[in-house]
Amino acid sequence: MNDSKSDKDEAPRETANFIHHLIDEDNRTGRFGGRVHTRFPPEPNGFLHIGHAKSICLNFGLARRYGGLCNLRFDDTNPTREESEYVDAIREDVSWLGFDWSGREFFASDYFDQLHAWAVELIRAGKAYVDDLGADEIREYRGTLTEPGRDSPHRNRTVEENLDLFERMRAGEFGDGERVLRARIDMAAGNLNMRDPVLYRILKAPHHRTGNRWCIYPMYDWAHGQSDSIEGISHSICTLEFEDHRPLYDWFLDALGVHHPQQIEFARLNLTYTVLSKRKLLALVKNGHVTGWDDPRMPTLSGLRRRGVPPEAIHDFCDRIGVARSNSTVDIAVLDHCVREFMNRTAPRMMAVLNPLKVVIENYPEGQVEEMEAENNPEDPSAGTRKVSFGREIYIEREDFMEDPPKKFFRLAPGAEVRLKHAYIIRCEKVVKNEAGEVVQLICRYDPETKSGQAPDGRKVKGTLHWVSAAHGVRAEVRLYEHLFTEENPGDEKAFPDFTTCLNPQSRQVLPECWVEAGLARAKPGERYQFLRMGYFAADKDSTAERPVFNRTVTLRDTWAKIARKG
Ligand code: ATP
Ligand code: MG
Repeated sequence: MNDSKSDKDEAPRETANFIHHLIDEDNRTGRFGGRVHTRFPPEPNGFLHIGHAKSICLNFGLARRYGGLCNLRFDDTNPTREESEYVDAIREDVSWLGFDWSGREFFASDYFDQLHAWAVELIRAGKAYVDDLGADEIREYRGTLTEPGRDSPHRNRTVEENLDLFERMRAGEFGDGERVLRARIDMAAGNLNMRDPVLYRILKAPHHRTGNRWCIYPMYDWAHGQSDSIEGISHSICTLEFEDHRPLYDWFLDALGVHHPQQIEFARLNLTYTVLSKRKLLALVKNGHVTGWDDPRMPTLSGLRRRGVPPEAIHDFCDRIGVARSNSTVDIAVLDHCVREFMNRTAPRMMAVLNPLKVVIENYPEGQVEEMEAENNPEDPSAGTRKVSFGREIYIEREDFMEDPPKKFFRLAPGAEVRLKHAYIIRCEKVVKNEAGEVVQLICRYDPETKSGQAPDGRKVKGTLHWVSAAHGVRAEVRLYEHLFTEENPGDEKAFPDFTTCLNPQSRQVLPECWVEAGLARAKPGERYQFLRMGYFAADKDSTAERPVFNRTVTLRDTWAKIARKG
């Protein structure tokens, strides 16, 4: 993306946000020599979710906007929670969103030697010490927001003693938690992060990349800012919780006298009817509440992808929600709206019957087949047309028939007429029931003069139904989804100490006996369609030619557009 002109032509620039203004100012003063270098720094302890997408679009978007660079960096400082499975998934998800880090892929663990050397430097400068207090004692000594902390009895060890103890920590002489290395800053600081934070802890656990080379690991706070510095990052974008850590990162970088990026905080994304905490998402996976990280109900990028959400809709969503400095919760209907807008323009229309009811057209010649011309997308004439086979026996949607309909039911009922999409007008002559009294089949007659969909005598037929030919259609499985949670804010820990109590037992409905038009047997996993009147769908990874499987991405009803119009 060096050619900024073609960038401009391709994508309309999003409106400027406060981060753009800050960077514009840095560029004006030449602070980083006009350079813009960002990074997306996930911890590989789970799959990426829609909140991460906001950060990815922001960081890669800044690089694109300013002709700069964006690194992908795995913040892998915690060996006990991280796995290479997550590294692979993160790469795949960032690529799927359409971003390219051009080989600038780094790991915080690549910097373990440098971080260790810098820790030794701090000790030499009297700015770090080895502490023997345990985790509970350290917490106790730290004080509170209203009370200053107390110095550890080990705070005034000599440089020689600290160097020796730190070396022995590294050599594996002590057990987990027996000693830590702490920065020597200020136990009375108003900002608790400045009260001698821990830099290194002992953890005798193998790391997914460094194996058993280390038994001491840097804390996130000690690794993060220095990793940015090593990579020459100009603008280090992070979420608001890290605002209080910024003075600490500044202190580290100043104490070391190394390149000093500008940290800028923005509000993280929260969405209604979902949780965006990796810890909670992991619990859903581990406890079997969902089928995996890529369950189509999950807010993970792999879940959204499997559900059929196009990456373009996620970009659109991120542009619309913007970047701000105060936390808020976005209505999940906004995301659905973006999905619909994109799918409406691009998804081929097809016919699929989800709850089939058989219709026999008694005056249609047995064995006769007609190939009906069907438009693929009324929103996009260049999408062309296809042939759909019509025959004597078809399926319609069970809910499109009522034996005893109310007024204004413009679908099928005894004696009533409807139009079959792309085919004839039919009239219901007879209802066939089983012993239990359930409707199992309809006997209809068609009007051969109505192939165009219009009656030559001008009589009015209001309803138009979708259908699938029984002789030509393919049996398919369709999976419908609702919100994973029944509560708007299931992540609110005060209201819901156990967020799993908010799980929606109806969030997934499997319809195993659907009928879809023949062309859909060839749908490849990930291909997206509109099923007329039923919503937008995508073929699932479980799909085969013998048994196609589709996930409903979104319904056709746009609740957000309605709300937005009213507002
Ligand atoms: P969690 O707290 O659930 O573990 P995290 O913030 O620790 O999530 P990371 O892997 O550290 O997850 O996140 C990588 C990047 O994505 C960080 O820069 C973080 O600020 C950003 N990010 C994570 N969640 C969100 C969110 N909901 N909205 C915007 N950005 C986010
Ligand atoms: Mg994090």
